[in-house]
Amino acid sequence: MSRHVIVTGASRGIGAAIAEHFIELGDRVVGLSRSGDAPSGCAKSFRVDVTHSEEVTEAVKAAIAEFGPIDVAVLNAGVTRDGLAMRMSDEQWREVLSTDLDGAFYTVRAAMASMVRARQGSIIFIGSISPFVGVPGQANYAAAKAGLVGLARSLAKEVAARGVTVNVVAPGLVDTDMTSDLGAAKDQMAAMIPMGRVGQPSDIAGVVGFLASNHARYITGAVLCVDGGLALGQ
Ligand code: NDP
Repeated sequence: MSRHVIVTGASRGIGAAIAEHFIELGDRVVGLSRSGDAPSGCAKSFRVDVTHSEEVTEAVKAAIAEFGPIDVAVLNAGVTRDGLAMRMSDEQWREVLSTDLDGAFYTVRAAMASMVRARQGSIIFIGSISPFVGVPGQANYAAAKAGLVGLARSLAKEVAARGVTVNVVAPGLVDTDMTSDLGAAKDQMAAMIPMGRVGQPSDIAGVVGFLASNHARYITGAVLCVDGGLALGQ
């Protein structure tokens, strides 16, 4: 049966690959992003800044009004504003926390009531291995992504009895716009990946698809690293 799937940050990179994955499965996919762009085949896309709670709530309400209860919510929108913590501005800190953590919370809060009422659903946060390995220059990003783990595991307990699962997918280094200007640092990080290659957005999309499938209906509160072994360390 065709599911109602919402994906934040569906315009590019990992979010676009996730949206395409569900479209291929025949699902009705609603994309949310600042630009409003979304892969062709999406049932609808909304131009939404996830840092604005009211915008997100309105968009999710409109999606539910048009396509019914949400079956799968993928909280993927994210940004980086790297810099050493000692020199990090309030603005750099806030932009990342408000997009990567607040934005995910606003979206999931708007989406989950319809899942709880339907007594089924999958919530998948796109985290990162950053909080587990520690990355110099990413204190803001690692803090936001660590926050997602606490959020997900608490939500998992709140809604488990209602048949809703909540999990985190934590990618390693993936080829997208986000990592395109890392220069030599990207090559250095790539050289540390035990599987010998940088991840592709489709590597992440497949795992998200699995977590949203019936095969994963007994998995909740889990953090799945999808990183070619990068978080294993040296
Ligand atoms: P991209 O920079 O390629 O895409 C980011 C997406 O997020 C875009 O769709 C963008 O929309 C959207 N977005 C950003 N800010 C907002 C906002 N305020 N409101 C709505 N949408 C927003 O990033 P990736 O695809 O690489 O990253 C996707 C997720 O994966 C992020 O959460 C990231 O932290 C995580 N991740 C990525 C890794 C990597 O190596 N690439 C590694 C680990 C985690 P628009 O274009 O419209 O602005």
